[in-house]
Amino acid sequence: MEGTVLRPGSYDDDRFDRSKRIPWLDMEALSDSRVLVVGAGALGNEVVKNLALSGVGDITIVDMDHVVLSNLNRCLFFRGHDAQQKGMKAQLVADGAKDLFPECRLTPWVGRVEDMPFPWPGFQVVLGCLDNVMARLHVNAHSYHHAVPYVDGGTDGFRGKVQVVLPPDGPCLQCGMNGSHQRILEKRFSCTGSDVSFFMPKMAAEITTTSVIAAIQVREALKILSQRPDMCIRNVLFYDGERGESMVLEMEKSEGCQNHPIM
Ligand SMILES: [Zn+2]
Repeated sequence: MEGTVLRPGSYDDDRFDRSKRIPWLDMEALSDSRVLVVGAGALGNEVVKNLALSGVGDITIVDMDHVVLSNLNRCLFFRGHDAQQKGMKAQLVADGAKDLFPECRLTPWVGRVEDMPFPWPGFQVVLGCLDNVMARLHVNAHSYHHAVPYVDGGTDGFRGKVQVVLPPDGPCLQCGMNGSHQRILEKRFSCTGSDVSFFMPKMAAEITTTSVIAAIQVREALKILSQRPDMCIRNVLFYDGERGESMVLEMEKSEGCQNHPIM
């Protein structure tokens, strides 16, 4: 760095010395950034860990759930006693990440993302770590409307997916929704028109795929926060951990998408 006198070993006194060696990574921007993480389950644990270790200055974590024993095969910040005590996921992730990077401001928000007051206060990127289509679409629509980039992650066993949504020009999550998603939505709203739950089998989930997908999500967020959206995945990355392969699929904006009608 210009004007800086380095004494032997001083580069080991700086927490972010090795990060600063990556030319495009804007450490100042990261420390000034406000990021929203929706979901504090397996992906949320890994995503918040990576954001905190990367030097992001302000992270809000939303989740309505408490810890259960079956979370413990893939969640860094949860312990057995958290499941016994029904600890709230958002709070535990915030507390755990604070230990990793004490300067980071971590705000847990215990509740449904749908109930978060608007407007969302100045987030530069939103990371989706959700396990259901409804919440994903809600976050996608609001992020797009407020022109906040949205990085959505999902896993199913050894497979996973990351989609980067860059408003106002890029396609959104809903642009890529297929018929089966639509059927889920119709089923959910078919009875009373309100929030009707129906049985959804639990998906397979394990930590190695969770780690890979969360890492890709945060890497995309770091590009966005460093003002390098040109480096981002266009638009969806599919990961197959059984074959050790990944593939990127480009998407178009859908004409029928209600989030950004094409004139
Ligand atoms: Zn769309």
